[in-house]
Amino acid sequence: MELEELYQELILDHSKRPRCLGILKDADSKSRLLNPLCGDEVEVSVVVRDGIVEDVAFSGQGCAISQASASMMCEICQGKPIEDVKELFNHFMGMMKGSDGDQEPEESLGDAAALKGVQKFSARIKCATLAWEAIHKCLGDLSER
Ligand code: ZN
Repeated sequence: MELEELYQELILDHSKRPRCLGILKDADSKSRLLNPLCGDEVEVSVVVRDGIVEDVAFSGQGCAISQASASMMCEICQGKPIEDVKELFNHFMGMMKGSDGDQEPEESLGDAAALKGVQKFSARIKCATLAWEAIHKCLGDLSER
């Protein structure tokens, strides 16, 4: 299977069977972001204990890319230290903005590396970054408390 086909399969799989779907009742922080350009909505909730993102979930609606990206983000960030999640955020944003050049995507991004191809479609980049911006905001709000 070609790499691009594999990536499309991954995106479809996550959008059809999203992981970590829901809103955490005991969330320490929540963030709901909209992408009016496409009509996407993502609400991310996190439970943080001792600097670790113990639980993360999302709910929302919108295009396949926005929902698949949210599902991938939750799966990858679950159980990771806050610092690691912030680093993943930077890797992901770098990949989507193309500032990583033609480098292979960071291995640590897991399934989210499948979204690298979206960078060619500038109108859709926001779809892919929405969920990552939401968890970044959640963690930012927490550290301000
Ligand atoms: Zn979208």
